[in-house]
Amino acid sequence: MDIALDTETALAWVRGSAAAVRDNADHLTRLDAAIGDADHGVNLRRGFSAVEAALDTTRFGTVGEVLVKTGTTLISTVGGASGPLYGSAFRATGKQLPEPAATPWQLLAALRAGLAAVQRLGAAQPGDKTMIDAYGPALEAFDSALRAGADLPAATDAAADAAEEGMRATIAMIARKGRASYLGPRSQGHQDPGATSTALIFRTLAEAVAGG
Ligand code: ADP
Ligand code: MG
Repeated sequence: MDIALDTETALAWVRGSAAAVRDNADHLTRLDAAIGDADHGVNLRRGFSAVEAALDTTRFGTVGEVLVKTGTTLISTVGGASGPLYGSAFRATGKQLPEPAATPWQLLAALRAGLAAVQRLGAAQPGDKTMIDAYGPALEAFDSALRAGADLPAATDAAADAAEEGMRATIAMIARKGRASYLGPRSQGHQDPGATSTALIFRTLAEAVAGG
């Protein structure tokens, strides 16, 4: 039997992401202080607080409604580059999921649409030291796990592991997009803040799916 991502789990994922962003806001801001303008944690904390408030006052019938509301709220409340990028990702993912529950393959396809939206908007390629260096590997691992017969908990866990590995791999990269690119080679040796928040969001997905 295939475990699906239902609307309640999607809500738990987004609420969990808000909590993870709050718990890690100082860490994210410190990473951004090294190669950016020291606001990544502040930006995401503001955005996800607004998301929590929006979720409290809305009733949701589908996974997609939860994710589209999340994305729309992030776009309208986060000033930095990451707000429109994450907002577009959640919106594009949600638009693919107009059902009360998503199968693992539907969720993977929808997350791919989210990644495509980030790349359309930000034009980053793999290796440019951005959030897509965590996002891309997460989806590759998700895909491989499903092909190997994994269920949703195992596949999202593999995705989270790969996102964390991708996050760590950004340390060696030279930034070619966003503010960090102004530093050129001096951006090397620092972990990308956006890849770090992306890894948090994939870990939270795995935790929500696992029921914790
Ligand atoms: P800002 O750069 O406007 O201060 P944030 O600090 O909130 O915004 O977010 C910075 C993060 O956004 C970076 O660490 C990087 O992962 C991500 N980012 C920046 N530009 C791009 C882009 N063009 N494509 C993908 N991700 C990007
Ligand atoms: Mg910043």
